[in-house]
Amino acid sequence: MPTPDRTPDLRRNLILRGLPDDEYARLASSVERVDLEVKDLLYEAHKPFEYAYFPVDCVLSLLSSVDGEAAVEVATIGYEGVSGLPAFLGSPVSPHDSVCQVAGTALRLSITDLRTFLGRDGALHDLMHRYTQAMMVQLSQNVACNRLHTTEERCARWLLQTRDRVGVDDFGLTQEFLAQMLGVRRGTVSLTAGVLQQAGLIRYSRGRISVVDAEALHGAACECYDLVQAEFARLIGAPELAG
Ligand SMILES: [Zn+2]
Repeated sequence: MPTPDRTPDLRRNLILRGLPDDEYARLASSVERVDLEVKDLLYEAHKPFEYAYFPVDCVLSLLSSVDGEAAVEVATIGYEGVSGLPAFLGSPVSPHDSVCQVAGTALRLSITDLRTFLGRDGALHDLMHRYTQAMMVQLSQNVACNRLHTTEERCARWLLQTRDRVGVDDFGLTQEFLAQMLGVRRGTVSLTAGVLQQAGLIRYSRGRISVVDAEALHGAACECYDLVQAEFARLIGAPELAG
């Protein structure tokens, strides 16, 4: 849940941070701060996008549901990016739902205003192109990761990535979302989190994760963590994610 006494740096989002100050100032007059709760629905599959969301310290999830089966996460979006890429790429809808996975703050911009800003051909256009390429790397690496790496390795990877995005060691993450992130049943989530907890890497209780030993958690994660973070660092400039 968002901490009311915490005032996040609204320009923590790397796309917004990458804009020249004058362009950011113009954009800032059109964006609106929103504090998102877990499971808030940002957009629904096959319905037109209304807003692009720039996460500050929340994590958004793109979920795919096939034939009414349990949703599986296909991608996550944190402070390194922006939701609503299909609108940027020319599609008014997407086959995926987007929900808030970890509560926190985001800035939102209407798709109409987004198009106006993009039409001015400033730095935002270029940043969103590079973010699209980084997302393609994330998506393709997830395919390989799901095929090649163990549930423990993948769980460690996702927890580290979530920690980067929220910027703190302790955050709320429901068992349901962890199961969606890993594409496994909830029982498997308990077992996997139990293994990581037993090894002293995390604490997990009642939907809250505490990263106890980030270095050891990094050691337990598959190489996909470093590979994807390095691409985000290279493409959109996230020096703290480079390691
Ligand atoms: Zn992997």
